[in-house]
Order: sequence, then structure tokens, then C-alpha cells
Amino acid sequence: MENNVIEQVYGKNVFNDDVMQAKLPKDVYKSWKKTLENGEDLDVDIANVVAHAMKEWALEHGATHYTHWFQPMTGVTAEKHDSFLSPASESRPVLQFSGKELIKGEPDASSFPSGGIRATFEARGYTAWDCTSPAFLKEDAAGVTLCIPTAFCSYTGEALDKKTPLLRSMEAVSKQAVRIMKLFGYDDVKKVSCSVGPEQEYFLVDREKFLQRRDLIFSGRTLFGAPAPKGQELDDHYFGTIKERIAAFMKDLNEELWKLGILAKTQHNEVAPAQHEMAPIFSTANISTDHNQLVMEIMKKIANRHGMECLLHEKPFAGVNGSGKHNNWSIVTDTGINLLDPGKKPHENTKFLLFLTAVIKAVDEHAELLRLSASNPGNDHRLGANEAPPAIISIFLGEQLEDIIEQIVSGHLSSSIHGSNLDTGVHVLPVLHKDATDRNRTSPFAFTGNKFEFRMLGSSMSISGVNFTLNTMVADVLQDFADELEKADDFDTAVKDLIKRTVTEHQKVIFNGDGYSDEWVAEAEKRGLPNVKSFVEAIPYLATDKTVKMFERQGVLTKVELESRVAMNYESYSKSINIEAKAMIDMAGKQYIPSIIGYVTSLADSVNSITSACPSADVTVQTELLTKCSSLLASAQKGLTNLEKITAEAADKEEGKEQALFFKDVVIPAMNELRAPIDELEMIVDEEFWPVPTYAELLFEV
Ligand code: ADP
Ligand code: MG
Repeated sequence: MENNVIEQVYGKNVFNDDVMQAKLPKDVYKSWKKTLENGEDLDVDIANVVAHAMKEWALEHGATHYTHWFQPMTGVTAEKHDSFLSPASESRPVLQFSGKELIKGEPDASSFPSGGIRATFEARGYTAWDCTSPAFLKEDAAGVTLCIPTAFCSYTGEALDKKTPLLRSMEAVSKQAVRIMKLFGYDDVKKVSCSVGPEQEYFLVDREKFLQRRDLIFSGRTLFGAPAPKGQELDDHYFGTIKERIAAFMKDLNEELWKLGILAKTQHNEVAPAQHEMAPIFSTANISTDHNQLVMEIMKKIANRHGMECLLHEKPFAGVNGSGKHNNWSIVTDTGINLLDPGKKPHENTKFLLFLTAVIKAVDEHAELLRLSASNPGNDHRLGANEAPPAIISIFLGEQLEDIIEQIVSGHLSSSIHGSNLDTGVHVLPVLHKDATDRNRTSPFAFTGNKFEFRMLGSSMSISGVNFTLNTMVADVLQDFADELEKADDFDTAVKDLIKRTVTEHQKVIFNGDGYSDEWVAEAEKRGLPNVKSFVEAIPYLATDKTVKMFERQGVLTKVELESRVAMNYESYSKSINIEAKAMIDMAGKQYIPSIIGYVTSLADSVNSITSACPSADVTVQTELLTKCSSLLASAQKGLTNLEKITAEAADKEEGKEQALFFKDVVIPAMNELRAPIDELEMIVDEEFWPVPTYAELLFEV
């Protein structure tokens, strides 16, 4: 009997391989595995048997409902529950779940973002079972629900979700990487998959206080707020001792995640007060994408259970770090070779160097697109702001690989720098072996031993976008490589020539220095690297000729699908800034300004009553405060009136690019103008009068 909690709960709520092996007839299990391994179409008879086994298993675990669980373009997951009840009999309940119900669902597609692909009158949409990601049980107040991971597309077959392009991109990488592996003599490699490990940052705040902040409720971030007396300047939160209340949250979170087979591994306090991180062990890209969606959802649920709220916004508080997600990415063969593992002598590892070269070229050629894939309205507050990677895409390779790149370019590749032993100067400490390369925390795209860590992502985003973009970019380069090398008479010479030529051409994207420095911005410009300043400015790169050509060639997204995503991006940007502006108008008009008037009036009353009681009394303190507060109050009122006017103007702009740019260039500055006097007032107004919890209360009283 297992007595460790991990052993007790791990995978308990997953219809995983073990369960299938136990529940399915042997021959069915075998052909099911074959379908999975070879990526073949699923036989209906097999689907029926799997559906039956899945239902039996779910019922044993108390499930009453099932749902096709999917990831529409909203960025959150969607589900519509159906009970297992069938109309077969009137006298007693009959519970059914057929292969057809497992494979296909038909949610109304018209109420999900489609960027113009679906009109309301043509509402049909389909969900299709992604049998490579295991079904699982969700336990909540609704009871137990069987969740079937699915992809979501329109009646005419266009992808309406974040999963379909990811699955397509994984096939694209696999196809091209297998070709390359053949050239290196690895005929046994049939499939290559992408492995992804996303590190997730988040904030926890007290729920009672959260509920008093309409900005947090409606937009996920504070739209007002003066800095607390203490921020993150002492570096005492990072890796600090975890408070009891937070520890209790983490314990529950881990258990819930383990039940779902999510490999929750690392937990620690992050840099900002009230900020934390959870990192799982990596898994295949589509599974880790599903898992990361569940992680975010479960974090919110467990936080509520502990009287807290989990904030996943990229920048909940001004003045302290915001949250991101680090997407660790690699490609691995079905025979277990990590294609980004340099091995002991990288300079002799041509296969590794070729895949590395492909990544370098892909990132350099599609830097703007990669930047876009990690962008959302919230992340505009981070990228390029010295707490997160710069908006300029560059690659950190580290000393060892950079040295190799230089050798390749100069035409004399003969050695690899090695790590040495680390002497701590203390005899009782063990001798440590140093890695050949130090870390660099300021690079957006860093090589970290046997994988790349893409660090630009916003914390609330689905990781699907960056991964299908990365996969497609790399697949496209690998296709060119394979085309060229398959034709070569002398493979060894051709591959070395290809590596040298490509690395020389794309070396400019490699940068090992401080990505936060101003010198780098100037240097990057000199090198001709793009510096796309904002999300809105990055959106057009999703449908340039170059991008369309690449996505279409790899069969990942069509021009129509890409253009619809452009429209959705503009729309979601405009909508989210509009919500922020409206939340500010609401708070300023109904909470801040009335409270400040109350305070100013109390000052005036004090001056009046003191002077009438004692005409010679000194009331300069009250009068000065009164004058200062009244003047700031007038600025706040002016800012409010202006923001109301400008938000109304924004609504009249043409939807799409024009409107989004108006929100960025006109509405956001107007929001800042309203915020400034109110934040200043927060520092001087009697706290008894202040209508909402302050930064100090939100960040330090958790
Ligand atoms: P950090 O120092 O940045 O916290 P770690 O080395 O602890 O990084 O790993 C961070 C993440 O990278 C983890 O989720 C880990 O599982 C993942 N990871 C490790 N190896 C790979 C790989 N080959 N492919 C993808 N992700 C990986
Ligand atoms: Mg990291």
C-alpha cells in the first residue's frame, strides 16, 4: 500500500495508458496503441469500445456528465456538460456513451471568437477528440465530469481554437525532422515530438480585499494604486520561506494537479511580494498545453478555497515585477534522442549542430512573429521594461556554443570548451562540476543545456501560440535543409557547408550580453534586428506574405485562418483596454472622487470650526492640504471627463487596426492621466477615507 501522498493520488483522475490496458480487450488496446503511434485515423469500432471503457471508468469514479473540453480563441477553456443519461428507457435510467459521442461534438460556434470566419447564422462548429491527450475527471461542486480533450473547428474545417494548429505543427516538425534523421542514418526514427515544460508565475491576494477592487475583478490588474512603502527592493521574497497560508494552498494545488497526472515539480516564492511560481516536469507539447490550462484553472479554484484570489495577469501591480511564463522547448525522437542535446563534444555532434542551426535561422527569420506569439495586452506592461525580456528577439547560446559558432564561421571547427570544477574554498563542501556555460536571465530565447527557454510569454496566455509558431518555423527551415541535403552527392560536406552558410548568415540574432541594457537596444538596431514595441504593432506580422507562405506550406494555418486571427487579436486588444477604461471611469466616478470630496469637506469643516472657535488659531496644515487635495481633485475630475469622452470616441472608430491603435495611442494615455492625480492623492488622503484596499494591504497582508 502506497503511503506517500504522491503515490496515492498520482494520475487517479486520468484515463491513462494503465487504465486503458486494464479496461480494454487486448486486441483493441493493441490497435489503439498502433493508431496513436502511427498517427492513423481512428477506427469507429475501436472508438466504440474505448468510449464504453471510458464511461465505465468514469461511472466508477462517480461521474454523471461528460464534456468535450476545448480551447477556443478566448484563451480560456470551454466545456458544455451532457449527462450520460439516455432516453432508452422510461422506467429506469440507462447510461450511455458511444464512440460517436466520444469522437465528435457540436457546440454552437457562433458565440466564440472567429475573426469573421463564422457568422451568427452559420453557427455549426465541431469538436474532435484529441486522442493523444488523455481524458480526465474534473471534480467540483457540479460533481464529477469526464473531460475529453478536443480540437474545435468550423463547419468548413477552419481551426477556431488554439489546439488544432498546435497538433498540425507537431506533425509538421515530425515529418521534416524524420527526413533529417534518415539522412544521418537513423532509419528507426518514425516520429519526432516536441517537449514543453512551462514555468507558471502567479500572485495570491486575500479574496476579501480582492472583492473590494473592481479593477482587479474586471480587468485582472490594478488600474490605480500608489506604491507601498516597501516593494521588492530588498530581494527578500525571491526563494523566501513560504508563509503557512501559501504553503497550504501549494499543498492542495499539488494534490489536485497530481490527481490529473500533471507533474507539478517545483514551487517557490518569486521576486515580487505575493508572487509565486510553479513548474511542472515537461511533457509532449499538446499535453503540456492542456495541462497548463488546467494549472491556471485549478490555481484559481484552490485559491478561492483558501480565501485567496489567484491573479494570472501579466502586470497586476505597477512598480513591482509582473508575471510571465517560461516555455522550455525541445524536440525528441520516438527512440529517445533529444535533438537539442549537445552531448559531451558538441563540435563533433553534427546532428545537434544542424538542429541548432535550424532553430537559429527560424528565430532570426521570424522574430516579429515569435514576438507576437508571446504578446497580449497585459504583456505590453512587461516586455522591454527591464523585469522581463526585451521586446527584441535574440538568442543566448552561452560560452561553449558561442565559441563553436565562431569556429564554424571562421572555418576551423575543432574543439569544445568544457566545464571545470568549482572550488568553494571549504573542505567539507563537495567539489561541484560547473556547467560549460553560465545562465543569462535577460535573454528572451536562451539555450539552457538541452532545450531552449523562451521567456517572453505572458502569464495568463495559452502556451499553444508560441509552440505552434516555434514548431512551424523550425519545420519550415528543416524542410529546406532536407530538400537541399537529400540532393547532395556528399552528405558530410554538404551538411557542414549548410551549417556554415546558415550560421554565418544568421549569426546576428545571437547575443550573450545583458538584454536589459540600453546599449543592446542600440546594438540590435545596428544589427538590423526588429524591435517591435507593442502587441498591436506586432499583430500585422501574423499575416504577412512571408508568414502565410510558411504556415500554408507546413499545413498549419491557411491565409483565411491567419487573417481571422489578426482580426481576433485587434478585437481582443480593443476590448480589453475598453474594459480597463470603463473600470477606471466607474471607480473614479463612484469611489475615488466621492471619497476625496468627503475628505476635502472634512478639512474645510475643520478649518471652519477651528477658526470660528478660535480666530487666531493656526490652520495652515489644513488649508495647505485642502488646497493641494482640491487641486488634485480637480485634475482627477478633468481626467475622468476626458477619459469618458475619449472612450466614447474609441467606440466610433472602425473596428480592427484603427480602433486598436486608437486604444493604444489615445485611450491608454488618457487612462494614465486619470490615474496620476488619484495615486498622488492616495499618499496624502486620510486612510479612513480611502475607498479601496491599498497596494500595501494587497501585497503584504496575504
Ligand atoms: P529553471 O532553472 O529555469 O527553473 P529547470 O532546469 O528547472 O529551469 O527546468 C525548467 C523547465 O524545463 C521544467 O519544466 C523542466 O521540466 C523543463 N525541461 C527540462 N528539460 C526539458 C526538455 N528537454 N524539453 C522541454 N522542457 C524541458
Ligand atoms: Mg526559467
